[in-house]
Amino acid sequence: MMDGKALATEIRADVAREVAELGHVGLATVLVGDDPASHVYISLKQKAAAEAGIDARDVRLPQGASEEEVLALVDSLNGDDSVDGVLVQLPLPGQLDEARVTRAVSPAKDVDGIHPVNAGNLYLGTPLHVPATPAGCMALLAAYDVDPAGKEAVVIGRSEIVGRPVAMLLLQANATVTMCHSKTVDLAGEVRRADIVVAAVGVPGIVTSAMVKPGAAVIDVGLTRTDEGIRGDVDPAVADVAGHLTPMPGGTGPMTIALLLRSAVKAARYRRGILAYPTF
Ligand code: NAP
Repeated sequence: MMDGKALATEIRADVAREVAELGHVGLATVLVGDDPASHVYISLKQKAAAEAGIDARDVRLPQGASEEEVLALVDSLNGDDSVDGVLVQLPLPGQLDEARVTRAVSPAKDVDGIHPVNAGNLYLGTPLHVPATPAGCMALLAAYDVDPAGKEAVVIGRSEIVGRPVAMLLLQANATVTMCHSKTVDLAGEVRRADIVVAAVGVPGIVTSAMVKPGAAVIDVGLTRTDEGIRGDVDPAVADVAGHLTPMPGGTGPMTIALLLRSAVKAARYRRGILAYPTF
């Protein structure tokens, strides 16, 4: 098992040391509306940030907030010297244009790594801010000595926050990458070739043991709330076949929080000029 919880604890301790060295790291999270899952995610992120010594600001707007209000808030956070990183929790209520709000965050403060400047740099092989969940997947592979170089990697899901960026990171780490999605004809056949599988779908148990090559490293990102509790995309029986597997829970979830905190530290380094963030 790839113990994401234990690794996340180590990373969070490192982050706390780095925050103390820097003196101050400011992270503002923006939550618009009443989505229950988003409320849970924001409180987890806020709590973890505070525990690491980050100056975490929890900004909330009502469900009916207008786009102008959200954009004005983002603009004020962009210009606020005490804020190094800005995260707008998605999804946003339907009246808001997510792409427009995402683009409004200053790229150097975009700790979620989804601004087109950050996404584009990842695509070009010159990553700046990278989304936390994909970064967490790569950190897990590294911690368990799974070197993607030369390996077949299959990513299931092509969202901008998980599937696409993790495929780019695996490519950058010299894997031979296949991206699967809802129109893929033979998912089982694709997955069976893979030395590394990343499942980011949101369909419980879509990856079965019959689909997995013996010894493969399998990373379960999917997270679905069911009547029986939280289920991942990977059937638990895959543990009998895989060489490495992330548990659910205790795998990619805690890593996402830890890597977000690491991103906030990176944003602080960009803002202080300790790391160069290119200007365009
Ligand atoms: P998303 O935007 O809904 O994307 C899901 C992807 O899965 C899409 O690309 C979709 O294909 C593909 N897909 C759907 N049904 C499929 C099928 N039957 N076969 C193959 N591919 C299929 O979701 P997301 O934001 O990437 O999140 C994915 C899952 O990860 C969710 O369960 C989410 O809750 C979870 N998540 C977990 C973490 C964590 O920290 N562990 C973080 C973020 C997300 P199309 O593009 O063709 O529609």
